[in-house]
Parts: sequence; C-alpha cells; structure tokens
Amino acid sequence: VIEVESLAKSFGDNKVLKDITEKVEPGQVIVVIGPSGGGKSTFIRCLNLLETPTAGKVAFEGQDLTTLDQKSVNKLREKMGMVFQGFNLFPNMTVLENIKLAPMKVKSVDDAAATKRAHELLKRVGLDDHADSFPSSLSGGQAQRVAIARALAMDPKVMLFDEPTSALDPEMVGEVLNIMQELAKDGMTMVVVTHEMGFAKEVADRIWFMADGYIQENNTPDQFFAHPETDRAKDFLSKIL
Ligand code: ATP
Ligand code: MG
Repeated sequence: VIEVESLAKSFGDNKVLKDITEKVEPGQVIVVIGPSGGGKSTFIRCLNLLETPTAGKVAFEGQDLTTLDQKSVNKLREKMGMVFQGFNLFPNMTVLENIKLAPMKVKSVDDAAATKRAHELLKRVGLDDHADSFPSSLSGGQAQRVAIARALAMDPKVMLFDEPTSALDPEMVGEVLNIMQELAKDGMTMVVVTHEMGFAKEVADRIWFMADGYIQENNTPDQFFAHPETDRAKDFLSKIL
C-alpha cells in the first residue's frame, strides 16, 4: 500500500531521516519504535506528506505523492487516517458531529448516512452513549477512541498512529490499545509509532526500529525482541525492558 524509497528529510542542517526504503503491505501492522528524537514522528508524517520529504519517494497505492499537486495529495490523504498523541477533536462540536464532519464535507455523504455510520463507529469504540456529548466532557481515553472513530469515518485504507496513548493516564491506555488491536484483527493496514512494547509484541507483523535517521532493523516482533541485531537496538531494549 505504501512504498518509501530513499526517503530523506532535513530541518535545516538537521538530517532527521537519512535514507529509508521500506514497504507496507496490505493488512500489515507495522510498529515503529526507537529512541526519542530518532525521527519516528517525522517519518510517519512524511507518509501522508504532512511533512514534505527533502528527497526520495513516498508512494501510496502506486502513486508517488511527492510528484502530485496539492489537490491530488489531499485526495489520497483522505484514504490515510491519522491519530496523534493529542486528540484534536473540534471542541465546539458534539462527538457525533465530529465524526460526521469530514464524510459530509469532503465526501458529500448525506446527513442520514453520515449519522448512521457515525453511530456504528461509536458502537465499535464503545461510546455510542456519548454521541451527543462534547469533547470536554470525555476522558482522555474516550476522546482518543472518538478520534479513532472519526478517522475511520473516512473509510481509510491505512491508519497512521503517532503515540496514540502516550498522553493518557495509565488506566486508559488499555481501552485505546484494545480498539487498535481489534482494528488490526479486522485487517486494517496500520503504521503505529508507540512505546507500548506489549502491543508491539502482540499485534505487530513487523517491527521497524528507527534510530539516527535510518530503519536499523525490520523484523518480526519475536525476532526483534529476542534477538536484536544492532548494538543500537540492544541498547534501546536494555533501557526499556
Ligand atoms: P519522540 O519519541 O520524542 O516523539 P521522534 O522519534 O518522533 O521523537 P521527531 O519528532 O521526528 O522524533 O524529531 C526528530 C528530530 O527532528 C528532532 O531533532 C526534532 O527536533 C526535529 N524536528 C522535528 N520536527 C521539526 C520541525 N518541524 N522543525 C525543526 N525540527 C524538527
Ligand atoms: Mg514523536
């Protein structure tokens, strides 16, 4: 679904991504882990061109995003759901309205269909009874589940997650990870930046270990956690496990 070729990204003299070539296959769950400041967020933002690569290609469904005009990029971006650390819900809208907004505005889905779909998605994340609540009344875990439902409302082909649980109180992490695990089970293609190693072990098809601007290791979770190959990964794991 996504192919990255010789991707590089610098901010001024700071070479954050140096040379990354990887593929995300349909249905795969990729978990990106690595030390803070290693470029994980920059990388995931390059996948949907929230950051403009300095060099290299990012192809989505066979189309190189870096060569397209803004309108075409926006069109393809609709197929990539993104969930961040912060929930970014619109505070002046109810939960239901938050979810309906993009399908109605961007895809011209009619109100009845958008409402029906929003309720289905809210059921899926266990929050249909909060449809008419405002975001300020939700817990962090609930807000993040709404953010996931909102992304799903666009029927994305791929979901990108950048540390979706790191702003949450510990007791709320599980409810969000469970939703993500179910999504994975349903066959959603996902790229997830996370420090939740339990999730990585259990749900990932591949671990991409990122440090110093490169994907240093691309392996199954079993292999990666039992037999990290690089000193960089060994060092990282010794600090977190
Ligand atoms: P963390 O685990 O802390 O989230 P990360 O792996 O996601 O870290 P990035 O946020 O991608 O790392 O940052 C990598 C480097 O890029 C850092 O040195 C950061 O200062 C720099 N950087 C990121 N975004 C920008 C920006 N918009 N402008 C300038 N420098 C940036
Ligand atoms: Mg980050």
